[in-house]
Amino acid sequence: MKLRSSEPFWLEKNGIVKSYPSVREHLKTEILVVGGGITGSLIAHQCIDDGYDTVLIDKREIAHGSTSATTSMLQYEIDVPLNELIEQIGEEGAVANYRACANSIDTLGKLSKKIKSVCGFDKKQSLYFAAYKKDVAALKEEFKTRKKYGFPVVWLEPDDIEKKYGLRNTFGGILSDIGGSIDAFRLTHDLLSYNTEKGLRVYDKTNIKNVKYSKYGVKVVLENECKISAKKLIYCTGFESTEIIKDNFVKLLSTYAMVGEQHESDQEKLKDTLFWNTADPYIYMRTTDDGRLLIGGEDEDYVNAEKRNAAIGDKAVKLQKYLKKILPDYEFVNDFAWAGTFGETKDGLPYIGAHKKFNSTYFVLGFGGNGITFSVIGMDVISNMLKNKKHPLEEYYRFDR
Ligand SMILES: Cc1cc2nc3c(=O)[nH]c(=O)nc-3n(C[C@H](O)[C@H](O)[C@H](O)COP(=O)(O)OP(=O)(O)OC[C@H]3O[C@@H](n4cnc5c(N)ncnc54)[C@H](O)[C@@H]3O)c2cc1C
Repeated sequence: MKLRSSEPFWLEKNGIVKSYPSVREHLKTEILVVGGGITGSLIAHQCIDDGYDTVLIDKREIAHGSTSATTSMLQYEIDVPLNELIEQIGEEGAVANYRACANSIDTLGKLSKKIKSVCGFDKKQSLYFAAYKKDVAALKEEFKTRKKYGFPVVWLEPDDIEKKYGLRNTFGGILSDIGGSIDAFRLTHDLLSYNTEKGLRVYDKTNIKNVKYSKYGVKVVLENECKISAKKLIYCTGFESTEIIKDNFVKLLSTYAMVGEQHESDQEKLKDTLFWNTADPYIYMRTTDDGRLLIGGEDEDYVNAEKRNAAIGDKAVKLQKYLKKILPDYEFVNDFAWAGTFGETKDGLPYIGAHKKFNSTYFVLGFGGNGITFSVIGMDVISNMLKNKKHPLEEYYRFDR
């Protein structure tokens, strides 16, 4: 699957940070992580931290999948509002998941500091605003629920929003004191580089031919006939996992994003906040650490990569039109526009854990708009599972939920 179009901003900005060798001999390891995106790099970090002999392989260059296309907003707010999630999975699970996403932003901040990453981790507030008048009542209910469970939120009226951010044509919104942003492409590279110093073995351009799963471990045969045997395999293969697991467990979407030129307009009022609205599909916006404005959304059902990429021009026009509506005075000059594939689950939650058809194997699939925060949660869940310990959130991430 072609996960993204060409020209995603972070790939262009960073270039090839580091290339790794491909596998050219037989390997034996305790843990084999398949997938070298943000998820695989976090999981490999956790495995090394827990003391396991670990190998990570990717069929592409490192971080050249969705991780190079992600807009990397770090939100505690799941695509499914807290009110709706409570209806779907109950109060305890819904609140615990919102809290876990909030905590994962701090975890990521601490981790990026610890490894001295230059991923530009920034703590931000988050404004979830009503795109239409009809959305206000439900958004106010959502606000009350978040407040009830102790999330640091305030309600802003449209005038407050205009005064604070210069944003017009909104109908009020929830301002949360939790959020962040990073350059996920860079963090992936920094994590792998840090952990190779600690013994992690990383290989790119390594294609799997077949895998034999048994309760004693896995035996992987590569396309060049080299073999890797491992006690446990952890798939961190993102949206391409639909090629491994044949169940109907995720809905694939095409999504679009664009960033403007550097320092087009004054960003002082925008730079400390993530913005997203109640439209379906929603539109989101943030500044980057190098002084650009990023806007994304316009999701539609995924058909194929050609159709997705052909729509980039039209989608960029639509995103820019919306930007003009809410920020009419902002001078936005499009510098990069790209498309990516994205996965949505019905409860907005990820799939993390074992699957009955794959012995000795775990999956960490951070689907949804919070893919990155879910991958951080995955570190803890997998760490527990490898030690045969139960994690309080694992039941919400099961494939058979
Ligand atoms: C435009 C866009 C905007 C987004 N915005 C946000 C956002 O604001 N916040 C957020 O949290 N998330 C966002 N996401 C989602 C986010 O990008 C993903 O959750 C995240 O990148 C997933 O990382 P990953 O490492 O799981 O997957 P990937 O980055 O795709 O990594 C998976 C890796 O596995 C490798 N692989 C796959 N199959 C195999 C195989 N069989 N053998 C070997 N290697 C294999 C691939 O080559 C790839 O490198 C966005 C996504 C897109 C496209």
